[in-house]
Amino acid sequence: AVKNKTKQFAVIGLGRFGTSVARALYLLGYEVLAIDADEEQVQKFSEEVTHVVQADTTDENSLKALGIRNFDVVIVAIGENMQANVFTTLLLKDLGVKHIVAKARNELHGKMLEKIGADRVVYPERDMGQRVAHNLVSTNVLEYIELSPNLSIVEITAPKALVGQSLAEADLRAKYKVNVVAMKRGEQVTAPPQPNEKIAKGDILIIVGESQGVQKLEELE
Ligand code: ADP
Repeated sequence: AVKNKTKQFAVIGLGRFGTSVARALYLLGYEVLAIDADEEQVQKFSEEVTHVVQADTTDENSLKALGIRNFDVVIVAIGENMQANVFTTLLLKDLGVKHIVAKARNELHGKMLEKIGADRVVYPERDMGQRVAHNLVSTNVLEYIELSPNLSIVEITAPKALVGQSLAEADLRAKYKVNVVAMKRGEQVTAPPQPNEKIAKGDILIIVGESQGVQKLEELE
């Protein structure tokens, strides 16, 4: 990958999640420093990103030596060891890191990370579980993101029941309390789509709305 983007990322913890985040950022063209306490993980991951170093991030001096403050975004991807995850986040905050993203194992852990000052808390297992569940319930669902407990965004193959109708005729806003924010037909994306736009077989709709309405739509054949 060509390193032409200036934003610098550090990823701490090279488990499955951290590895995946670090690799993706690197492939997107960003500078990535990957850090893990385990020498074996570090060896395995060398040559995959810009730099890989072995360090225990619950040690303030190690963090300082890495110049962690100079990174634009630091991702705490330590999973199993909750104590190391929390201590690392706290130290990063103390050192004045600008933007901290931390992975939480559960809601309480997430609350704690927010209190400590993580700028963003992510729940990869929970989110992926939800996505898979929605996809299992309805084969039309391609992507599902919960924005809040009562609001979600879903990418859905147009249900047969809607094919042939215009968006105005389908009137999803009244029937399901959702909005179609974009329509995909092959490579072509229309956002926002016009009310007179007819829904064709194979069209993909991006829909935002109350979770209840979204769920009803998912259940349409
Ligand atoms: P996942 O569930 O995403 O696979 P894991 O918890 O299995 O995540 O892996 C997290 C990684 O974090 C491990 O490779 C582990 O060596 C690393 N790690 C744990 N504690 C520390 C620490 N104090 N400093 C740096 N890395 C750590």
